[in-house]
Amino acid sequence: MKESFKFSWIGFLVLAPYFLWAQIITVNGPIKPEKMGLALIHEHIMVDWIGADSTGYHRWDRDEIVEIVLPYLEELGEHGVATFLDCTPAYLGRDPYVLKQLSERTGIHILTNTGYYGSGNNKYIPETLVNDSPEKMAAHWIEEFRFGIDSSGIRPGFIKMSVDDQALLSGTHENLIRAAALTHLETGMTIVSHTGSDGPAMAQLKVLKEMGVSPKAFVWTHAQNGTLEGYLRAAGQGAWISLDHINGQSSDGNGSLGNIEWFVKILLDLKANGILDHILISHDAGWYDVGEKDGGDYRGYTDLFTKLIPRLKENGFTQDDLDIILKDNPKRAYSIGVRKE
Ligand SMILES: [Zn+2]
Repeated sequence: MKESFKFSWIGFLVLAPYFLWAQIITVNGPIKPEKMGLALIHEHIMVDWIGADSTGYHRWDRDEIVEIVLPYLEELGEHGVATFLDCTPAYLGRDPYVLKQLSERTGIHILTNTGYYGSGNNKYIPETLVNDSPEKMAAHWIEEFRFGIDSSGIRPGFIKMSVDDQALLSGTHENLIRAAALTHLETGMTIVSHTGSDGPAMAQLKVLKEMGVSPKAFVWTHAQNGTLEGYLRAAGQGAWISLDHINGQSSDGNGSLGNIEWFVKILLDLKANGILDHILISHDAGWYDVGEKDGGDYRGYTDLFTKLIPRLKENGFTQDDLDIILKDNPKRAYSIGVRKE
């Protein structure tokens, strides 16, 4: 009998994850991780600070925002940026339609997110949702992953949540990280958690591990408020350290370079400690504020290229080091895939 290809369920189930999950999910659909290229992993297009119970698409004019933001994204193309992660969560000005238009106009891959933002006394979670169980929260986030946000069909590429910066998580914030863990196990989306200092980072990692989720699925966001010891502990467990406030604007009027020298020093320390392969950097810039005239003062995304990279190179950083933190790490951190403990 001639041997021919036989369909095997076991083979299919073993291989399926690689076909289904080896992808980055952008507002224009999935791309292969290799297409991600140079990535800014934590930025914002817009924000609405009014609070969950008053915000909504009626609060802004999409075309006006696109026209104001477009030049800032176009200049990123000149610096070789291929991918941009928009970290504005639901109920804080997340608008997938704006992101999609900007992506189509610039050719930059843009990712949006699902999840709830807890810090600020839960002001950015609707009252009707804040007491939901982790299971109920996760069900909603998973639904967005499968079917898209609202009726846009645009799918989130990662989970964005936030906790208050305290070592003891509140009940609601523990529910958020539990919901994120459940969503991760079901979808493979990475958990990006606005955290701050070491205490809440370690508290969240503990919950994740209890729930069978590897720290490799966790991005410790705003880790600039943590310590080198904390970074070493978290990276030792596999977590991602997000130093995401690059800002080269002089604040003292003396021509100093904002926090650029802080970044040079910490990145050299992290390199010396051998954990550059767990580090992510970005500006946390942008912020068209829908509550202000013409969006207020918009901050661009180029200090990394015009100010930080030249100083890093002067201090012995190689192109390989830069490629690790700006290309390899984002690809590994944000590729869809379930990471179990
Ligand atoms: Zn942010």
